[in-house]
Amino acid sequence: MKEKFILTFSENTTNKPIINDLIKKHDIIVNVIKADISAGEKGTAFVEINATKSEMDKALKYLKIHNVILQSVDKYVHLNSDPCIHCGACTSVCFAGALKMNNENKLEFDTSKCIVCELCVDACPLELFEIHFNK
Ligand code: SF4
Ligand code: SF4
Repeated sequence: MKEKFILTFSENTTNKPIINDLIKKHDIIVNVIKADISAGEKGTAFVEINATKSEMDKALKYLKIHNVILQSVDKYVHLNSDPCIHCGACTSVCFAGALKMNNENKLEFDTSKCIVCELCVDACPLELFEIHFNK
C-alpha cells in the first residue's frame, strides 16, 4: 500500500535522524516529496510511504513514539470539464499521459494515470483543474 503524509517535527526532533532510522528499522520505501527541515526548528516533510499494511502500521507507530505529528494526505485532481474549450494546453505538460486529445480533438482525462504532479493546474488558461483532498 502507498500513503502520503505530512510529517510535522517539533524543535526537539528535527536534529534527530528519525526518517533514516525509520527506513533502516522497517521494510518500507519512503519517498520524500518535499521537506522543509532545519535542525532545532519546527519542520515539515511531505512523504509517500510504500509498505505492507503491517509494516506501515509499525512505521506509523514508530513516528508517533518519536513525537512526529502525522497527517494523512490523499489528494486528487478534479477537472471542471464543462467550460473546457479543448485547447490542449494541459496535455503538453501531462507527462504521465493522463490528459490526451482524442481523435475528435476533445480532451480526455484518464484519472487512473494521474500522478497528481499538479502541472496542469497552471497550464489551463481557464483554471479548470482543482486539487482536492480526501482528508
Ligand atoms: S496532475 Fe499531473 S499527471 Fe495529473 S492530470 Fe495534471 S499534469 Fe497530468
Ligand atoms: S488547458 Fe483547460 S481548456 Fe484547455 S484542454 Fe486543458 S482543461 Fe480544457
